[in-house]
Amino acid sequence: MTTRVLVVEDEPKLAEVLRVYLEAGGYEVVCLDNGNEVADTVGRWSPDLILLDLMLPGKDGLDVCRELRVSSAVPIIMVTARVEEIDRLLGLEFGADDYICKPYSPREVVARVKAVLRRSQPESSALVQATDDSLQIDQEAYTAHLDGVGLDLTPVEFRLLALLASAPGRIFSRDRVLARLYDDHRVVTDRTVDSHVKNLRRKLEALRPGQDLIKSVYGVGYRLELGDPDS
Ligand code: CA
Repeated sequence: MTTRVLVVEDEPKLAEVLRVYLEAGGYEVVCLDNGNEVADTVGRWSPDLILLDLMLPGKDGLDVCRELRVSSAVPIIMVTARVEEIDRLLGLEFGADDYICKPYSPREVVARVKAVLRRSQPESSALVQATDDSLQIDQEAYTAHLDGVGLDLTPVEFRLLALLASAPGRIFSRDRVLARLYDDHRVVTDRTVDSHVKNLRRKLEALRPGQDLIKSVYGVGYRLELGDPDS
């Protein structure tokens, strides 16, 4: 079965270039030039991934992303014209899986699409990862439960938690975390990683008040300490 990519881009030339490169990469492509038709198209066509421009006529990329995330976990790559926007977008936690800055090379876009699709495939060896009774991570359903309560995580937070939970107590270096979160090794600032860690920590702490499950090891990295649900 072919893999379907929905391209939402209002600049016709850019949309056409993406179509040509993605089709050459073996993907089936549909292009939309506005945000209003995205939800409908996702419902009818079930794309495997969406390349979503931030600035669009009608609903902008942020609105579209929020709207989709209510009912769909389809991987979304956000495309923005400004690199400074990315930090701001990350802070908003609206659930995009990756970001690309304009101007981009279409080759890079295809590589990124491939990477996100690969990442979104469940790792069959570890579909359900139960580190102990308290934390359960289901890589296929993309869900995580702490003390039996579902965690509402962004895709990046989910991968971060799954990585740390693969070996509780072990220190994962920032580099290792970066490589897992963004497997194309592009430059992401430490501040970006810190902000994801901070957000994940906050969500865990909501279920375990007063406990800090993710320890920062200064100058080295992070580790998960599950501790005792009742302490
Ligand atoms: Ca645009």
